[in-house]
Amino acid sequence: MSNVISVRGLKKSYGSTQAVAGIDLTIAQGEIFALLGPNGAGKTTTVEILEGFRTRDSGEVSVLDTDPSIKGSAGRNWRNRIGIVLQSTSDAGDLSVQETIEHFAKYYANPRDVDEVVAAVGLSEKSKELIRTLSGGQRRRLDVALGIIGSPELLFLDEPTTGFDPKARRAFWALIQDLRKTGTTILLTTHYLDEAEALADRVGVISQGQIIEISTPALLGGRATSLATVSWLSASGPKSEKTDNPTALISKLSADFPGEIPELTVKRASLEDIYLEMIGGDDESE
Ligand code: ATP
Repeated sequence: MSNVISVRGLKKSYGSTQAVAGIDLTIAQGEIFALLGPNGAGKTTTVEILEGFRTRDSGEVSVLDTDPSIKGSAGRNWRNRIGIVLQSTSDAGDLSVQETIEHFAKYYANPRDVDEVVAAVGLSEKSKELIRTLSGGQRRRLDVALGIIGSPELLFLDEPTTGFDPKARRAFWALIQDLRKTGTTILLTTHYLDEAEALADRVGVISQGQIIEISTPALLGGRATSLATVSWLSASGPKSEKTDNPTALISKLSADFPGEIPELTVKRASLEDIYLEMIGGDDESE
């Protein structure tokens, strides 16, 4: 499979702050890749360099076979193939939802159907409303609509579901899974670990401008081989034990109880547990 994004030795500083300190990354065609990391880790800087919105200090970057920093090659044709949902929300204008999306559709050679996109982001009931009357989460959904209206081959989503209610987040996940079926490559940044787990083929954890690990959500940080915690209610109160062989522990317990083992649960490390362990004291937001 060909690489849609390829990054080698990427560095970027703002004055004395080194935001990106040497990143290597490749993302294959059709892949959904989630970049995870604490506030200030360098995610947005990295993504905006790939989008051609920020300059880099050094390193090699190729996005859809183009260097985003070279204005001549990263021109309109290149931009037409890319969809972007930035972290900051779109400006509120005196246009309705539908008018805004129709307006943006005109910039693209092969736009999607406007009504279909409005429905896909769950804004059908609001399509005639002015943008300034939308709630924060509805405005964010409009941002997502504007990111996908041009049928992009590559979609950048920077914290796309911030402000979404749980139902809207699930609907958004379904939309992304539909885009996956069409072969769209997606680079996502998110602080929601369940979102990364639901959507991403691979995740990359970034901290202080460097990638700590790239893996699948299931295998990140040795997750698949981490100890399981078995908990149950014994005669003397709640008990819990960490083990690499929960089946053996449960069969031993089942011999001690005549019927069901009371309040039995087996819990493996969640992606969030593993992630928090990995970034440890590096969390700049604390
Ligand atoms: P968040 O999760 O909070 O969005 P992030 O991982 O996207 O964080 P960046 O926005 O890339 O992080 O910021 C990385 C570092 O670079 C931070 O220390 C930030 O303060 C700094 N930085 C980012 N943009 C600028 C800028 N325009 N000028 C100066 N410093 C900046």
